[in-house]
Amino acid sequence: MNPKLIIDATDFAAALLFILGLKRMSSPLTARSGIVVAGWGVLVATLASFLEAFGVTADAQPHLGTNLALGVIALVVGVGWAWWSGKRVPMTAMPQMVALYNGMGGGAAACIAAVELSSPLPSPGSKLAIALVGALIGAASLSGSLTAWAKLDGRINRAFHAKGQQYANGIVLAATIFVGIDIISGGAPTPALTAAFFIGALAYGVLMTLPIGGADMPVVVSLYNAFTGIAVGIEGYVLQKPVLVIAGVVVGAAGTLLTLVMARAMNRSVSNVIFSRFGAASSGPGREIAGAMKPAEASDAAVSMRYAGKVIIIPGYGLAVAQAQYKLYEFVKLLQAAGVEVKFAVHPVAGRMPGHMDVLLAEAGVPYDMMHELDEINEEFSTADVALVIGANDVVNPAARTDKTSPIYGMPILNADHAHQVYVIKRGQGKGYSGVENELFFADNCAMVYGDAQAVLVKFIAALKELGAAA
Ligand code: NDP
Repeated sequence: MNPKLIIDATDFAAALLFILGLKRMSSPLTARSGIVVAGWGVLVATLASFLEAFGVTADAQPHLGTNLALGVIALVVGVGWAWWSGKRVPMTAMPQMVALYNGMGGGAAACIAAVELSSPLPSPGSKLAIALVGALIGAASLSGSLTAWAKLDGRINRAFHAKGQQYANGIVLAATIFVGIDIISGGAPTPALTAAFFIGALAYGVLMTLPIGGADMPVVVSLYNAFTGIAVGIEGYVLQKPVLVIAGVVVGAAGTLLTLVMARAMNRSVSNVIFSRFGAASSGPGREIAGAMKPAEASDAAVSMRYAGKVIIIPGYGLAVAQAQYKLYEFVKLLQAAGVEVKFAVHPVAGRMPGHMDVLLAEAGVPYDMMHELDEINEEFSTADVALVIGANDVVNPAARTDKTSPIYGMPILNADHAHQVYVIKRGQGKGYSGVENELFFADNCAMVYGDAQAVLVKFIAALKELGAAA
């Protein structure tokens, strides 16, 4: 059979698997199988790349052995590293891993462009231009994602703001584009120009991400996801590989939609995100808070929830750290058995990655109809007897509504403070991801149940069981 036909058919199968996989990822019920289906797509697409070896032209034959060997080495290293890191990564470090893999996609797209630019055969200007656009987006996504990884991993602990930073970013971007135009007009890129172009693109990614601080990281992570997809799609066009175009477009479209959702959740416009004006209106540490936090015993909090009519639970990053989702659902079932109405309020940026809390709760078996989005549930807090905040901080900080000096000012938050009584489970006086103090914890209607989320929930469960036995 014609090798080209086999390759095309394999590519087509891979593209179908990508689309089907993404479709299944649109619901938490089918998301897990969607990832497996898309994984098969990657496997089929990789096989198709190796099949290319059977259809190479005569002038490429001498390089075939070396190229195949390099391909196999890259595959072994990549698969080995991904398998090893994927197996041992804790759930709480998943966002860093996502950022890292995002960066790899952007880097791969940039490498394809680099090969195109170093080709000894002159490429038509239009092809060069397209390759350069992909290279710019891909290289910026690589360095930007690596910077995001360092921030999420706590290796870079603060946002770097400097006067005129946006102008400096603009100059770096403009200079890189200028070098690109020079390459296209010259027709044959020199190594010096190519190197200058890539250095500019990589520097722009770092400069764009460094100033981002506070609670804005989710937007930038999803933005790089979209950029990576677009870069891969563009380079797919350059290579005339439809499967790459489809994979890139699918990732780019999904990433763009996610960016829009995340930007809306953070109350930022996408142009504000792209032009790196994060935190421009809010640079202070937040205002001073008077008063003190009031501690409460775990058993008292549990008993008061047992006699409540309605409890709304707000899960946050600390729940993931403590891996307390199973104990939480056990506690919720005890409340429900006692006739208490229980709902979960899930903030779009709670945790450290989009959908983090939904995944966590679903893992423990919490039914989806108990999980409610911010817009859906926010009005209900004023009718709740208790709001139980578990390892969440920024997403319930009322300063976001009123304190213009706060780095999270403007971010929509869950109205936990509107509930009759608020209980907060956290280990101590630790701040949230944005590094600001939380006014809610000092409020008259708020009590702190100190301890690791899992340990406190074990005490809650024991208190309810004791109460049941005594009744
Ligand atoms: P936060 O990060 O604001 O707060 C988490 C709180 O959990 C801390 O105050 C900490 O306090 C507590 N905690 C930590 N470990 C435990 C534990 N074992 N048991 C009990 N409590 C614990 O979490 P939120 O979910 O409220 O907010 C998410 C933040 O992360 C937002 O600012 C968001 O923008 C940002 N972000 C979100 C991303 C996303 O895509 N979802 C990506 C990147 C950032 P203590 O130390 O006292 O226990």
